[in-house]
Amino acid sequence: MFLYELFALPESRRKMYLRSKLSSMNKIIKSLLYLAAGMAMTTCSSPQTKHEKVILAVFAHPDDESSVGPVLAKYAGEGVSVYIAVATDGRLGVTPHAGIPAGDSLAAVRTGEMKCAAEQLGIHPPIMIGMHDQLKMHEGLVALSGQLDTIRKNVIKLFDELKPDIVFTWGPSGWTGHHDHRLVGSVVTEAFASKVWTKPMALYYSEIPAGSFPKESPLLLATVDPKYLTIKVSVTDKDYNKAKAAWLCHKSQYTPETVEQLHQLMRTTEKGVVYFRPFEFTGNNSFFP
Ligand SMILES: [Zn+2]
Repeated sequence: MFLYELFALPESRRKMYLRSKLSSMNKIIKSLLYLAAGMAMTTCSSPQTKHEKVILAVFAHPDDESSVGPVLAKYAGEGVSVYIAVATDGRLGVTPHAGIPAGDSLAAVRTGEMKCAAEQLGIHPPIMIGMHDQLKMHEGLVALSGQLDTIRKNVIKLFDELKPDIVFTWGPSGWTGHHDHRLVGSVVTEAFASKVWTKPMALYYSEIPAGSFPKESPLLLATVDPKYLTIKVSVTDKDYNKAKAAWLCHKSQYTPETVEQLHQLMRTTEKGVVYFRPFEFTGNNSFFP
C-alpha cells in the first residue's frame, strides 16, 4: 500500500493496518535475531564438532616404530593426532655396546628412549602396554596366553577411547619374522575384526614390497608381493630426518653408525614411498582419500 492510499483510509482501518505491519516487522526482527544467535553458536561450537583424524600404531617393542617413522612424522606434521602403543617393554634387548643387563633396568631405559622417539616424531607420548619382551613364552603357554590376552584387552580399550580412523600394525611376517611382531600383529587384527566399530576404522599392515631391497643389502627382511600393497604414502626428506632423529633415541639398541646404515638402507629401499597392505580392500590408495 502506498503512503497516500494509507492516509485515504478511515482512522480505525489505518491503525489496524499499521498494527499488522508492526507485528510483521517484529516477526522479521525476531527471525533475524534467532538467525544471528544460531550463527554465533555454530561459530563457537565448531572446534568441538570438527573431526580430528587419528592414527594409532600398535607394535611390539620400543624401536619398532622406526619401521614407519617417516609416515608417523608426516601425518603428525599435517595435524593428524598420532599415537603409538608398544606392547612389550623390551627388557630382553641386551646389546654389547650398551651393556645394560636384561630386566627392569633395561625396560626403564627403553621406555625413556621410546618417549624421546615420540617427541622427535612429533606424536603423542607412547602408550606402554608393559608386557614382557618375548611375552613370557619361555614360561609356557599359560603365561604367553595371559600376555596376549592383556594386549588384546588394552588394544580394544584404545580403540574405544582414541577412536582411531587408521590403525597400523605388523603383518604376518612382522618384517623380521620376530615372534613378538607376528603375535602382536595377530592380536591387533583379532581385536579389530571382533566387531563393527561405531566410528569407521581401517587396519593396515606395514610391509616391504618384494624386489625393493638393494641386492647388496646387509639386512634381509620379509617382503610382500606389490599386488597386495595398495596404500602408497609419499614421504619427504623432512619426514626421513625426523624418523632418523627418533631412531637415534634408541641408544641402548643402536650405535649412531648402525642407525645411519639402517636409515640409508630404508631410504634406498623405499625411495620416498612407504607401502601398506589393507586388512580390508576398499579400492582406496591412500589413508585419507
Ligand atoms: Zn621389534
